[in-house]
Amino acid sequence: MDPGGGVERTDRSLLGAGEKVLLVDAKKRRYLVTLRPDAGFHTHVGIVAHNDLIGAYEGSTVLGSTGRRFLVVRPTLAEMVLKMPRGAQVIYPKDLAAILMEADIAPGMEVLEAGVGSGALSMAMLRAGASVVGYELREDFANRAQNNVTAVVGSDAPYRVELRDVYDGIDERGLDRVVLDLPEPWRVVAHAEVALRSGGMICAYLPTINQTSHLRQVLESSAFGMASTLEVLHRTWHIEERSVRPDHRMVGHTGFLTTARLLRPEALGSRPGIPGPPPTEPVAGDRPVADDVDREDGSPGGADRPDGTAGGTPDGIDGVEFA
Ligand code: SAH
Repeated sequence: MDPGGGVERTDRSLLGAGEKVLLVDAKKRRYLVTLRPDAGFHTHVGIVAHNDLIGAYEGSTVLGSTGRRFLVVRPTLAEMVLKMPRGAQVIYPKDLAAILMEADIAPGMEVLEAGVGSGALSMAMLRAGASVVGYELREDFANRAQNNVTAVVGSDAPYRVELRDVYDGIDERGLDRVVLDLPEPWRVVAHAEVALRSGGMICAYLPTINQTSHLRQVLESSAFGMASTLEVLHRTWHIEERSVRPDHRMVGHTGFLTTARLLRPEALGSRPGIPGPPPTEPVAGDRPVADDVDREDGSPGGADRPDGTAGGTPDGIDGVEFA
């Protein structure tokens, strides 16, 4: 059995010319390299011949010219995002992941994204299978995003960037999602109302809670409902023999993520967020209700159950028949 093996290897393990790989040295320094026949990658601890990497297994090691070993793997999307050329500040991988779930980006969806910046969010949504049209104010960013997307997702990705101001309007119609990473997303709410299909979602990523609060106010008097805001706290751990603890440093703050759904006019009166009549029965227990979804028998989601367990599933949706 090969070391680290046990699983039958497939051709997908073999590295090919033109691919991007990550070389990791003994000190865990990482280098992003594009494999080209006969080229050499120069580090301060020697040269690694690309020909030794082309045809090698992902997950193997190669020897550099001075006898040092380098581990070779393909970079993940998160690693690419943090290493690719950037002009604008990219969205952190932890937030990219949350956007894919919160905005429910899925294969075949038509997404309008503004602004595209360096294209990190574009890549994540394209990799999730969406078709993306980007609006971007700056030509240098639009070009960089397109180059980054071509390098990471491929030149046949369903991706187009237009040089324009999204605050002036959106030409597309029947969109599934409008995803925004720019300073004043509230100026896009009215445009998104006509560009999205009913049930479609708007999603905005903002650095401050003041901006987020303003966006929520504007959404409150729009055709959008079911608004929700979150931030992602991400803490890595140091795990080494008997020292197992959180790492000392973490990214303290990146941004707030807000989503809302476009509703039909008749649904707007009853949308969550608009205070309804007071409850006729008191909510059992003092646990906060996980969200606004009640069980089918009419009892509130999130309330304590008679058996003493906490009510409310982690997703906050109770009383659902899942068949
Ligand atoms: N989400 C991107 C980063 C976006 S940075 C990424 O992950 O790489 C914000 C971008 O919005 C900038 O490139 C800026 O030029 C663009 N922008 C700001 N206002 C805009 C507007 N009104 N219309 C289109 N793009 C805009």
